[in-house]
Amino acid sequence: MDDTTVRMTLTLIGPGTLAVFGCVFAAAWAIDRKRPYLLLLAGACALLVVGACVQIVYWPRTPGANALVSCIFYTSAVLLTAEGLLKRSGRRLGLGWGLAAGAGIVGLVWYFYYVDRNLLARVYVMNFGYGLILLWATVRLRHLWRARFVDRALFVVLLAFSAQFFVRTMLTIGFEAPPLGARAFGQTLFWQTLQLSMAVLGSALAVAILAVAILAAAVMDVIDDLRRERDSDRLTGVFNRRGFEERAKAIFAGEWQRPLSLVLCDIDHFKRINDTFGHGAGDTVLNLFGALLAEAAGPGNPVGRIGGEEFAILLHGQTSADAMRWVELLRAAIGEVSFGEMDGKMQVTASFGIAEAMERDTLSTLTKRADARLYRAKQGGRNRAVAFEGTPIIAPLQPDDAERPHGPRAWLGRQ
Ligand code: GH3
Ligand code: MG
Ligand code: MG
Repeated sequence: MDDTTVRMTLTLIGPGTLAVFGCVFAAAWAIDRKRPYLLLLAGACALLVVGACVQIVYWPRTPGANALVSCIFYTSAVLLTAEGLLKRSGRRLGLGWGLAAGAGIVGLVWYFYYVDRNLLARVYVMNFGYGLILLWATVRLRHLWRARFVDRALFVVLLAFSAQFFVRTMLTIGFEAPPLGARAFGQTLFWQTLQLSMAVLGSALAVAILAVAILAAAVMDVIDDLRRERDSDRLTGVFNRRGFEERAKAIFAGEWQRPLSLVLCDIDHFKRINDTFGHGAGDTVLNLFGALLAEAAGPGNPVGRIGGEEFAILLHGQTSADAMRWVELLRAAIGEVSFGEMDGKMQVTASFGIAEAMERDTLSTLTKRADARLYRAKQGGRNRAVAFEGTPIIAPLQPDDAERPHGPRAWLGRQ
């Protein structure tokens, strides 16, 4: 290969790598279009490619305009990258901040070309500016350090990527001017090509590592989403039977601590609700019911819709007596929820079976006991809970119960 080919190949490595990653980000976004941050990152790659092309084809043809136009593209790309990475975690860079940072960098590059021509200052402004923007985004993404392995890896790579703007800039241009002999050596094609190849390969490698880290995190996002979808019930938002059983089995398989109680719950006369108000109204009841259960159970206590209008809740740290109190308050809350068009026409109620886990229990033996009690609650006239073998069935609460706070949320807030 002659020198021109070497230089041309080197020149094209950066834009080529970026174009490939841009296409991968765009394709990853196009698959289910649920992750707009991937589109922002694809846009950032495209802007970087355009910026590089502006320099390669040398258009605009005046050096000042060329430097400024490529700087605009590079700066927009860095801002888009920061915005994309923040968006993945539900955060924003903010239009104001972005515009201010972008205008600041482009303005200074303009100044150091047209007012006080200084190449070194321009290199510093751009590299340190980009480093600071990405460092700011990294600081705002510090929660990734405590998240999954891929998130932590992404955090470290992003931190290193931001830092390399400072380190590389200082290593490349931070030295004093070389002595005369060395300067002559610096003019040789060998040295220039070596410098160029190190700079180009270094930045292409850094970009590639960052892009791979982002893609790995995106793949894990997709896998987690699929898992969540597989395990959750679309209508109510709580776990489906599979999801609930998986979590419950994991608790029993591990070092679980007593007390632990299982509550099975079945909406009363649900068929009548469907028949009177229609399937849509029935769905609304299920939806609100599931949300109420999830809120009442709180985080860490899995709630699942294990049948048509049947739910299961696993309550950590609660004896069956505690679970019974929880259910009684829940029944009161159900009485206060507005179930749409059914309001004032038909009262939604539910029956409950409660069982506390014993030393040798498995999910299956515990479920059997709770199910038998749920059956007794139904037999006893519905709208009630049964917790202990042999204890009397709890009578339904009176509507004017003095203990009852106002509104289900008020009750839930007091839990
Ligand atoms: P019980 O008090 O004895 O529990 O009576 P029930 O009417 O609630 O129980 P049954 O098992 O007779 O009826 C359950 C009904 O739930 C029948 C079924 O059509 C309905 N159902 C099951 N899944 C759904 C759903 O996703 N949406 C709606 N709207 N209805 C459903
Ligand atoms: Mg029912
Ligand atoms: Mg049922």
